[in-house]
Amino acid sequence: MSASVIRKLGTELIHHPYSPPPGFAAPQPGVFKASSVFFPNVAAMRQFEWKDKTAYTYGLHGTPTTYTLEERLCTLEGGRQCLLTPSGLAAIATVSLALLKSGDEVLLPDNVYGPSKALAKGELANWGISHRFFDPMHPHDLAAKIGPNTRLVWLEAAGSVTLEFPDLCEQVRICKAAGVLCALDNTWGAGLAFQPFDLHPGARPELAVDISIHALTKYPSGGGDVLMGSIITVDEALHMKLKLCHMRLGLGVAANDAEAVLRGLPSLMLRYQAHDEAARALAQWSLTRGEFAQVLHPALPQSPGHAQWCRLCHTGPGGAAGLFSVIFKPYYSQAQVDAFCDALQLFEIGYSWGGPVSLVMPYALAQMRQVWPDQLQAGTLVRFSVGLEAVTDLQADLQQALKNFA
Ligand SMILES: *Cc1c(COP(=O)(O)O)cnc(C)c1O
Repeated sequence: MSASVIRKLGTELIHHPYSPPPGFAAPQPGVFKASSVFFPNVAAMRQFEWKDKTAYTYGLHGTPTTYTLEERLCTLEGGRQCLLTPSGLAAIATVSLALLKSGDEVLLPDNVYGPSKALAKGELANWGISHRFFDPMHPHDLAAKIGPNTRLVWLEAAGSVTLEFPDLCEQVRICKAAGVLCALDNTWGAGLAFQPFDLHPGARPELAVDISIHALTKYPSGGGDVLMGSIITVDEALHMKLKLCHMRLGLGVAANDAEAVLRGLPSLMLRYQAHDEAARALAQWSLTRGEFAQVLHPALPQSPGHAQWCRLCHTGPGGAAGLFSVIFKPYYSQAQVDAFCDALQLFEIGYSWGGPVSLVMPYALAQMRQVWPDQLQAGTLVRFSVGLEAVTDLQADLQQALKNFA
């Protein structure tokens, strides 16, 4: 080939005249990957607005793939606007950074997702933003702790690891009465167990959280192979404040990851129901075992906050996530509890949840809390995330691991 033919080929392979015919329809939306996005001319480039999703300006600000995922997540959670972040924790951090400044205070429930505490203690404190923890099971403690500098209250239902179910409606009512924004970590409910923007469906539409964040890493992904978060709102001005911070921080998600979550959404409800049914069966079975001082799952009448769970969530399949925890009787040593975890064959030792594989993790609760909660028994806590394996096999696995450990 002559040098000029080679040069021409090099250009033609980039600027190719072929466009596929329009009208392609298939179950899944396409994956659009871009940093650069082309404008038809300079005037159009100057005119295009990235904020309102009427066009495209830059890959970081949205592609057809991410817009589609955002809209579907709004439908899932009953919100109007959505931002995507590279992880659930990044969604939490973005909300705090967008809404808080030096001199402000943020309140967190004492059973909040652990890294959310670390963010407040480690980073927000450096920015001159203070924090306090409130007792999630006593709404009057939240009311008492809201002070003149409180600008944001984080809420979580059920609580991380210990799964106490708070009176979310009362907590939201307290925040509204004080004129303080409330943000919910809605990862457990996943938009399915209850509606964060309509906590009293029909009756009291004003009872809504201001912001719902969701670790899509968990159930929406469903594969244990994607990290992503979302920030959902119903108020346009609040959304815009969050969106500007999100844009300035340069947060975005990869198109292949967005596609993976889009692929997970059609089966989300069925998976969530299956995780729920299996976790309830195993939690119920755990109640019959003498090794445990307490079994924590909001659908169990003995579990802290059960009455609140009954009021907020529908109690049938899909009314709870696939998580439960046990507290071993205090005479079992940490080494014995560790040996129990090691003896499990189907439950892998790992953080996170929402995927097909069941997971187990021991937690040092005393180091995670300001005070040992009065509704929890003393002893070592183990949290289970129930996957999609056959529940009889999972029960047999728990049974064999318990058999030899004492
Ligand atoms: C996992 C989780 C997060 C964080 O999600 P990542 O994507 O792992 O950062 C936040 N909140 C809750 C309740 C979680 O379980």
